Amino acid sequence: MTAVELAAAVRSGERSALDIANEALAAIEAREPELNAYNVVLADQARAAAAAVDQKVAAGETVGPLAGVPVALKDNMCTNGVATTCSSKILEGWIPPYDATVVTRMVDAGAVVVGKTNLDEFAMGSSTENSAFGATRNPHDITKVPGGSSGGSAATVGAGAVPLSLGSDTGGSIRQPASLCGVVGVKPTYGAVSRYGLIAFASSLDQIGPFTSTVADAALALEVIGGHDPLDSTSIPQPMADLTGVLDRGVDGLRIGIITELSGDEAAGSVAGIAADVVAQVTKAAQVLETAGAKVSTTSIPSSVHGLPAYYLIAPAEASSNLARYDGVRYGHRADGANALAMNAASRTAGFGEEVKRRIMLGTYALSSGYYDAYYGQAQKVRTLMINEFNERYQDFDLLLSPTSPTTAFELDAKTADPMTMYVNDVCTIPSNLTGQPAMSVPFGVGDDGMPIGVQLLAPMLGEPTMMQAAAVLESAARAGEAK
Ligand code: GLN
Repeated sequence: MTAVELAAAVRSGERSALDIANEALAAIEAREPELNAYNVVLADQARAAAAAVDQKVAAGETVGPLAGVPVALKDNMCTNGVATTCSSKILEGWIPPYDATVVTRMVDAGAVVVGKTNLDEFAMGSSTENSAFGATRNPHDITKVPGGSSGGSAATVGAGAVPLSLGSDTGGSIRQPASLCGVVGVKPTYGAVSRYGLIAFASSLDQIGPFTSTVADAALALEVIGGHDPLDSTSIPQPMADLTGVLDRGVDGLRIGIITELSGDEAAGSVAGIAADVVAQVTKAAQVLETAGAKVSTTSIPSSVHGLPAYYLIAPAEASSNLARYDGVRYGHRADGANALAMNAASRTAGFGEEVKRRIMLGTYALSSGYYDAYYGQAQKVRTLMINEFNERYQDFDLLLSPTSPTTAFELDAKTADPMTMYVNDVCTIPSNLTGQPAMSVPFGVGDDGMPIGVQLLAPMLGEPTMMQAAAVLESAARAGEAK
C-alpha cells in the first residue's frame, strides 16, 4: 500500500499502525542480509510510536496526514537520542541531542520512524559503496549498486519494505538512486525544505527530499516536510505549495523542453555516455507528454555541460570547510597523539574514508590563496552563468526534461577504481543543484538489462506544482504500459 492509502486506513481505524509497523519491520528484516540498506533498525521505537498513533485514533484524537506510515531516514539527519553516523567512522558514538526539522515534521504528521539508512560517507558518492559500514545493494539485482549517495533510502522503498523514506540531494543523491531503484525521488527548490539538523556536506547545494513509490506520496511527503523554518537561515519564507491538489491537472498547453546537451544526441552537442536505452525512454516520455497536450521541443542550454566540473570544485570547497569541525575534540572518534595537532591529524586520518579525504584535499586546494581565482572563483562564475541560462530558458519553457542517470544500475565495484567514472554519473542531476531549482526522477520503464530507468523533470524556482503535474502524467502512462 502507498503512504496515502496507509494513512487513510489508519485514520479510519481500518488498519492498526502497529500491524503496519510490524509488517514493515518484517519486510526490512527479510531483505536486510542481502541489501544492507540500514545502519540501524529502530524496531522498539517504531512499535512504541505506532502504538501511540493507534491510541490516538482509538481516543478520537486528530492524527496527521502520515498517520502510521513507516518512514526511513538517511543517516545524515539528526535524530534525538539515536546515533547519527553519516556512514563515517569519525562520528562513531556521537548521539545528537536534537531532531532535524524534517524528522520533527514527519513525526508530528504521524509517521513512524523505522530506521536510519546507509549512505556514501557524508553523502559523497553515487553508489553507496563509500560507506564505512559496507555497500548497499540494488533491490532489483543484488549484484548491482542502488546508486547514491542516498542508496539505503532508495533501496528500502524500491524493495517495497517501506512506502516512504527521506534522502538528501547535493548533486543528485536523491534522483540518481531513485532512478536506479525504480522509485520516485524529488529534490525540492533550494530553501523549500529545512536543512536544520541535516549534517552539512555542501551547504549551498544540500536539500532534503522524499523517496516514494508514487507521485502522490511524494507530493504528500513534501507538503509535510516543506515550508518555512526559522531554524534554517536559508529557508524561504513561504509555505510549501499545494501539491496533492494539483496532481490531476495534466500537462495540456505546458511547454516542455528536452535539454540538447543532456539528450544523448552527440551530433547535436550532447555530452557523451548517455546510454541508448536511457535515451529511448526519455524519447517515449516526451511522446507521452506531447500526447497529453504538452508542446515538446528540444532546447540548448550550453552551460549545462560545465555543471560537472563546477560542482566538483564548489562541493568539495564547501565540504572542506564543513568537515573541519571533525577534529577529534567535539564529535565522535578520537585517536591518540603526542599533542593537539597530532591528535587532530590522527583522528581525521583514521576517521575519514578515502573519498572524503579526496574531497577535503580537492576543496582545500581549490580555496587556497594562489588557486582561488583559477578554481573556486571560476566555478562560481560558471554557476552564475548556469543560473542565468536556465532562468532564460524558463521564459520559454514551463519544464525541462532529461535522463536522470546516464545508465541503469551498474555492477558493484565497476566504478570504484577511478573516481572520474563515478563523478560523470551526476552529469544530468548536478545542474539543478547549482541553480537551486527543483527536479525529480520519475520511474519510466526499464533498460535493455531489465533494470529501472528514471526520467528527470526540471522546473524553475518553486515550480514543484507543475513538475508534479507532469510527473503524474508520466506515472500513469508508465502504469498503463506505455513506457515499455
Ligand atoms: N554524487 C555526487 C557526489 O558525490 C552527489 C552527492 C550528493 O548529492 N550528496 O558529490
